[in-house]
Amino acid sequence: MIRAAALYIGVVGAAMLIVRIGGGGAWPAWIAFAAGAIGVTAITAALLAPRLRHLHQATMAAESLAAGAFDARVPGTDDEFAPLASALNAAGAAIAATVDALRQERAQLESLLNASSDATVAIDRSGAVVYLNDAAKQMFAGAGDQSVGRPFIEVVRDHDLNELLVAAAQRGERSVRVVAYGQAQRWLQATAVHIDDAGSWAALAVFHDLTEVRRLEGMRRDFISNVSHELRTPLAGIRAAAETLQEGAIDDRPAAIEFMGHIQREVDRMTQLVEELLELSRIESGAAPLHFAPLDASMLVVDTVKRFARQAERAGLSLTAEAHDGVLAIIGDGERLERALGNFVANALKFTPAGGGITVKAAADDGYVAISVTDTGIGIEPEPRARVFERFYKADRGRGDGGTGLGLAIVKHIVLAHEGNVSVESRPGHGSTFTMRLPRR
Ligand code: ADP
Repeated sequence: MIRAAALYIGVVGAAMLIVRIGGGGAWPAWIAFAAGAIGVTAITAALLAPRLRHLHQATMAAESLAAGAFDARVPGTDDEFAPLASALNAAGAAIAATVDALRQERAQLESLLNASSDATVAIDRSGAVVYLNDAAKQMFAGAGDQSVGRPFIEVVRDHDLNELLVAAAQRGERSVRVVAYGQAQRWLQATAVHIDDAGSWAALAVFHDLTEVRRLEGMRRDFISNVSHELRTPLAGIRAAAETLQEGAIDDRPAAIEFMGHIQREVDRMTQLVEELLELSRIESGAAPLHFAPLDASMLVVDTVKRFARQAERAGLSLTAEAHDGVLAIIGDGERLERALGNFVANALKFTPAGGGITVKAAADDGYVAISVTDTGIGIEPEPRARVFERFYKADRGRGDGGTGLGLAIVKHIVLAHEGNVSVESRPGHGSTFTMRLPRR
């Protein structure tokens, strides 16, 4: 519109000048010249305006790209600015694609680092955190959402770990060290490396939590030493008996029978140990799946008491069932639960002096069925009481009662596999109550 008006003014002005030069027109010469000059200027402006606009658009687009707005584009033209516009548009598209690819790569890297259970931290040369992954936020005492920018020592609150990373950042020292960290004494393997040419990142460290591995190693060591210890006693007994027989006792028939009986008992003890170990490992590893079926806990109590009646009688103990009137429905592996309850009762028989009493009871208990064995035996002091369900634990190793220390560990694992729990109450010198609680169905 403006351009059309300028052209119109230009043509009229030029016409006035031409007409005047040609001798026509009544207006003075200066007016004709002025009109002619305005007309020429207006025509020039009208012809240049679109080009100036295209140049302006191209400048604006270049400025936007420089400012990071990679979606800025120059409208297409059909004049001499067309190649510039398409070059700028192509540059914009290429930069946008590159930035997008970099953003995706960064997101992939970040999710990779956050998926790791190892803590990863990067610091700058001054020792300030420039990056930390999710695991690091959970692992370090002083870490939070605002950790980036803070000195690493404030985040980690451990001089050794801070020194490790600062040494890598400032002196280029690469180190791998295992450090006991924090009040909970977690074992961390820290690997720190110097980084060159990575902007503000001067050093990177990865912290691998070894606590669980160390705990398992300790358990394995204890296990081997416990098994060796448990086997040594019967083996020594067998060896002594065999040697005595060899040295002449074999010719003394009553003595020979006694020593053979001794060997037999020691072999039984070893067999029991191996069987219990196998059972424990089968339950723990899930190698022998449990066969769940509807059961009545009251029946379990009655059956167990019947099973041990003769043994109790021989030991001079009273053994009674205090079963619930109705059905106490649970879902469980009958054979395994019989074994668990049998272990409770066998212990009660073992640790109750003659004349005492044992009661086996089943009762409903807040969504659970509690099956308990109460004895009037020797009881257990508080400190060992907290440990009796550990494997190989015996409150009194000197008793030599032939136990393996595995019975209650087996009970615990059977009950855990039923989503239940075990507990013990005891008064030293007065007796104990062992209870297993199983979900009521
Ligand atoms: P063990 O084969 O030695 O009986 P358990 O795991 O069954 O192994 O028991 C671990 C320890 O718990 C026993 O050595 C004993 O010291 C203690 N204990 C278990 N039951 C009783 C009980 N009814 N009365 C007293 N002490 C018990």
